[in-house]
Order: sequence, then C-alpha cells, then structure tokens
Amino acid sequence: LFLSFEGIDGSGKSTQARRLASHLEDLGRDVVLTREPGGSPGAEEIRRLVLEGNPDRWSAETELLLFTAARRDHLERLIRPAVARGAVVISDRFADSTRVYQGVTRGDLRGTVDALHDAIIGVEPDRTFLIDIDPEVGLHRALARRGQEERFESFGVEMQQQMRSAFLDLAEQSPERFVVIDGNRDADSIARDVIAALP
Ligand code: C5P
Repeated sequence: LFLSFEGIDGSGKSTQARRLASHLEDLGRDVVLTREPGGSPGAEEIRRLVLEGNPDRWSAETELLLFTAARRDHLERLIRPAVARGAVVISDRFADSTRVYQGVTRGDLRGTVDALHDAIIGVEPDRTFLIDIDPEVGLHRALARRGQEERFESFGVEMQQQMRSAFLDLAEQSPERFVVIDGNRDADSIARDVIAALP
C-alpha cells in the first residue's frame, strides 16, 4: 500500500504522516515513513542541491528535472521494494507537490510536469491525504520554523493561496485517489479522519 500526504507549507502534513505511521505500527503493520524531496540517499543529496543556497540557482525547468530524478531514485530504491514486500509506504509529499510547486507556482510547466511524470515515474499513491489549511495559518507555522533549507519564495500569503487552490484542483480532478481533510482543527481530530479514510 502506498499513501501520500500533501498540503501547503505549515499544513501539518508531516505531523499527520508520523501519526498515521505510528498508528499502523501499533497495529503490527510493516510501515515505511518517508518524504520528498528525498527519501533515499541519492534523493536526499538532490534535495540539498535544490533547497539549500540561492533559490535562483536553477531554472524552473532544471529544478523540475532534479525533482523528477530524485523521485525516480526514491521510487526505485525505497518505495517499490517496500510495497513489493507488503509494507505500507507513507510519503510526506509525492508527485502532486511537483504538479503544484514546479507545475504552477514556479511558472506554467504543467504539460512538462505531466509528460515527465508519465515517462519517468508512472505511479500514483493508492490514497493521497490533502491536509487543507487556511494559508494564513500555514504561513505563520512555516515562518515560525523557517530553517536554512526553507525556500523563502513560498512565504507569501498570495503564493500560499495559489498553492492551496492548485492542490484543491488536483483533488477535484482525481476524487477516487484524494481525500481532502480540514486541517484547521486539533491534530487528534485530523488524525481520526485520516484513519477513517484509509483504503
Ligand atoms: O515538505 P517540506 O517542508 O520538507 O518541503 C521543503 C520545501 O521544499 C518546502 O519549502 C517546499 O515549498 C519545497 N518544495 C518544492 N517543490 C516540491 C516539493 C517541495 O519547492 N516538489
């Protein structure tokens, strides 16, 4: 089983991914909790190349290729083998983040993102939990923990709003895969909704 969590910066998706992982572990499941960009040694190296340092280092197209290379490595080295042995893989972000960040926010690369996904990745999670949150709240949380690798280009309310609608559009396009969860609530209620929506 392959599950992903998506949402704007500060949505609480990482907390929820961790909570679901421990819930399933308590039930005795073999769980692999992972994240993107990153998740395998090679992909974590690419994460550093992209997220640390000058945000203008790469063009939008080059950045898309780097994220896609990272995802391919993550898929080959970690996700596919884990799913094949029967584990539940929970990824904090997957291809939908690229559809939003590289496809919409950094310039209109939607067609290229889809073409690359089909050619190089070709899989979707069995279920994607979109933790939907008020962009202002997300912004405050994200700013509060801004670290060296955070990209300041994400930190404007307008940008957050654009990303939120892009995620909601994706959810509308694939209702059989997405579950949209109201993230403007306490973590316990959100975690309960996630568990109730497991495939
Ligand atoms: O989810 P996480 O906080 O680890 O993401 C790290 C940063 O990478 C975020 O600031 C996010 O905006 C950015 N990102 C991106 N493109 C992606 C995935 C994440 O620009 N496809």
